[in-house]
Amino acid sequence: MENESSRNFIELEIDKDIKEGKYDRVCTRFPPEPNGYLHIGHAKSILLNYGLAREYKGEFHMRFDDTNPTKEKEEFVDSIKEDIQWLGADWKDHLYFASDYFDRMYEAAVTLIRKGKAYVCDLTAEQIREYRGTLTEPGKNSPYRDRSIEENLELFENMKNGMYKDGEKVLRAKIDMASPNINMRDPVIYRVAHMTHHNTGDKWCIYPMYDFAHPLEDAFEGITHSICTLEFEDHRPLYEWVVNEVGFEKPPRQIEFAKLYLTNVITGKRYIKKLVEDGIVDGWDDPRLVSIAALRRRGFTPESIKNFVELCGVSKANSSVDYAMLEYCIREDLKLKKSRMMAILDPVKLIIDNYEEGKSELLEVPNNLENESLGKRQVPFSRELYIEREDFMEEPPRKYFRLFPGNEVRLMNAYFVRCVDFKKDDSGRITEIHCTYDPESKGGNSPDGRKVKGTIHWVSAADAFTAEVRLYENLVDEEKGKLSEDGTLNLNPNSLTVMKDCKLEPDLGKAMAGDSFQFVRNGFFCVDSKDSAPGKPVFNRIVSLKSSFKLDNK
Ligand code: ATP
Ligand code: MG
Repeated sequence: MENESSRNFIELEIDKDIKEGKYDRVCTRFPPEPNGYLHIGHAKSILLNYGLAREYKGEFHMRFDDTNPTKEKEEFVDSIKEDIQWLGADWKDHLYFASDYFDRMYEAAVTLIRKGKAYVCDLTAEQIREYRGTLTEPGKNSPYRDRSIEENLELFENMKNGMYKDGEKVLRAKIDMASPNINMRDPVIYRVAHMTHHNTGDKWCIYPMYDFAHPLEDAFEGITHSICTLEFEDHRPLYEWVVNEVGFEKPPRQIEFAKLYLTNVITGKRYIKKLVEDGIVDGWDDPRLVSIAALRRRGFTPESIKNFVELCGVSKANSSVDYAMLEYCIREDLKLKKSRMMAILDPVKLIIDNYEEGKSELLEVPNNLENESLGKRQVPFSRELYIEREDFMEEPPRKYFRLFPGNEVRLMNAYFVRCVDFKKDDSGRITEIHCTYDPESKGGNSPDGRKVKGTIHWVSAADAFTAEVRLYENLVDEEKGKLSEDGTLNLNPNSLTVMKDCKLEPDLGKAMAGDSFQFVRNGFFCVDSKDSAPGKPVFNRIVSLKSSFKLDNK
């Protein structure tokens, strides 16, 4: 194991538990509610739990926390599984559904009643709230608190048998109405709800509350360390009460860590749902979102997300991480793995007047200068090319080293060209740039030691593959902050730019959904998996090449 200082606080706690003999094995879980898509924050929880199980050679359980029939949907079960598999967290044969434990949960409730630790209460939801007290005032005992065990057993069974309407009766834990922790003031642990459950159908008309169900699920599965986020810290005494009173021998232990928050992105289901409904984004996997499905569609890799989560670390204090750090991680991951292709996003024609008309040649180009193992490819070159509009200026400012009248530049891996003329339309927009080339400079090498300062990329016009390319910015306005005063999102009107007439190297026309590349100077791009067809790829920009982000310790 690594040295003490590089271990996070959860690892230190687990080390201690093992040393003290509290547990002789480690078992963790990821317990999502199947009520939406997973996002980058969930990825942190998944990778943390999975990573701990691996580190301690223990087990990792995948469990759907499907105890609330109102909000849950089958479709989410499949998307969640797909996302977790994609992240590489392998639950092997440990796939569980909390709803499979309903019988055992019912038994656990009966155990509590028998011990005099739970009672059926007839107060309405509103009365329960009134009796609960406040942070500064203790609560009051329910008038039903002292029912006999026999009566409670009978009433609870009646609850199960459908004799009451929704809300008419609840089962409550009998703890302490004066506890300084409101969660301990006789919390409701079972409610009547005549609803069909996606797994158990109409078998049950009573359902356990989260704070009762969750510790039981963990205990039934032999989870040792139940890792959750900080908002459950105040619920920990109740978690412990449940597993101890129900009588588990080696009960699981809850440990809380801080949620992962990212700047300038939206993770709340409520907001995303609205964006989807209003047609502002193209579904839950819109590449501007940070659901795992969206990140995958945008072209993020599991490795980049793993590195990101590791860089974030595990902490007890809430804080936000800069989105730029996620971008840094994907750039680092792709840098050496992907070919550097030439793609012109905003094309303008460049014509080489002294290059033979109708002639075409193949030039050899390295795929990645920093990684020779990616080999070389052949790129067609001819008299008419496309270059980026921004690579030519009629009247250049100082230190502009690209094309302008009279200047000579290198066409990347091809030849030196000198600008001799250009044409404009009535609106002043450049329509054609004319150059002459030096045949002696093939490969972009100087024939006589003369230097050129600028190198620009190009695509042969006759061979170019025309494609749609999409550029993204944050969905929310960085300057204004996420939310406006009335609680609505401050949207960035430029979050999506669709470029329909991009000119790409011909090889890119064969790219398949999910393939990714570096486009020289423009960034990393991935073939969209939703809107592409074979022979008709659409490209999403994953990330640009430039960043102001720096790792603190580098
Ligand atoms: P959200 O409302 O943001 O979608 P949730 O808490 O409702 O999240 P659950 O399905 O209940 O989603 O969460 C499953 C697990 O993921 C829980 O253990 C929860 O603590 C963890 N989790 C949720 N959001 C984050 C986050 N931002 N960072 C780390 N872990 C998270
Ligand atoms: Mg939740």
